[in-house]
Amino acid sequence: MHFFRLFFRCFIFVVLTILTQIGGMAYLLSLFATRVMGMSRFSARILVFLLFYAAATFLANMAAPAFGRVPLSCFAGEGDKMMVRSALYCALNRNYVTPRMRDLVAALSEDMDEKFPGTTTVVLDGNFPFIDGFPLLPHLSHADGRKLDIAFYYKDADGYFVDGVTRSPIGYFAFEQPRAGDEQPCEGRKDIITTRWNFDWLQPFFPSYRIEEQRTGFALQWLSTVGAKQFGLEKIFVEPHLRNALAASGETIRFQGCRAARHDDHIHIQVR
Ligand SMILES: [Zn+2]
Repeated sequence: MHFFRLFFRCFIFVVLTILTQIGGMAYLLSLFATRVMGMSRFSARILVFLLFYAAATFLANMAAPAFGRVPLSCFAGEGDKMMVRSALYCALNRNYVTPRMRDLVAALSEDMDEKFPGTTTVVLDGNFPFIDGFPLLPHLSHADGRKLDIAFYYKDADGYFVDGVTRSPIGYFAFEQPRAGDEQPCEGRKDIITTRWNFDWLQPFFPSYRIEEQRTGFALQWLSTVGAKQFGLEKIFVEPHLRNALAASGETIRFQGCRAARHDDHIHIQVR
C-alpha cells in the first residue's frame, strides 16, 4: 500500500475517533468490508462507511446503558421540556450521560417549565458512550458520563425570551463579555497552553441575543440547591462575572480556572 494512502487512512481513523469515539472503528470495519467485497468506487465506499457508522451509533444506543451511560434523545417531541441543541450532537455520539445526570436534567427542565411556562431547557455536549477516561474533546473532563453542558436561556434584542434557541448555532463560543469593573480572574494572562479561547473574530457573527437573566439565574439557583440535594450535583462552572450578575450563590458554583474553557457561553455541571 502506498505510504500516503496509509497515512491518510490513519489520519481519518484518528479524526473520527476524536470526534465521535466509535467512528474510527466503523471506518476500519468499512475498509475491511469494501476490500472483501471488492468495492473500489469512492462513492460506494463512502456509502458503506455511513451504513457502518449508522449501525455502530444504533448499537451504541442499545449497549451503552450496560456500561452505565444513557443517551439523551435528539428527538424532542411536543411535550418535551428538554432538547439537545443540535441533532449533530447525537450523530456524533456526544449525548451520553449517567442515569443520575439524565434524571437531574429532566427534573431541571420540568421545574423550569413549571416556573416559566413554555421554557425548553437546551443541553449541549455530554460524553461519549463508552470508556471512562476517554475525553470528549475539547472538554478534557467530559470523560466519565458525569459531566454535561447546559445552554443559557436567551432573550432577543427587544427583551423577549426566545425558546429553544441559543446565540451560537451549536450553543458554544457566543461569549457574554464582562464589563470593565467585573470580576475577571484571567484578565491580562497570556497562557500559551490553554483551552480558554476567546474567538473575538467570531463574535460579530452571532445574533444580538442576551442572556435571559431570570431563567438562567433560576436554573443556577435550582442546580446549586435542588440539584445538589436531590441529584448529587457536586460542581457548577460559570464565569464569576455571570455568577455575580445573576446573583447565584452556593458552594457548588465554582470557577474552572484560567486554562480551561470560558464558561460565559454555557453552564457546565458535574454529578457524583
Ligand atoms: Zn463542560
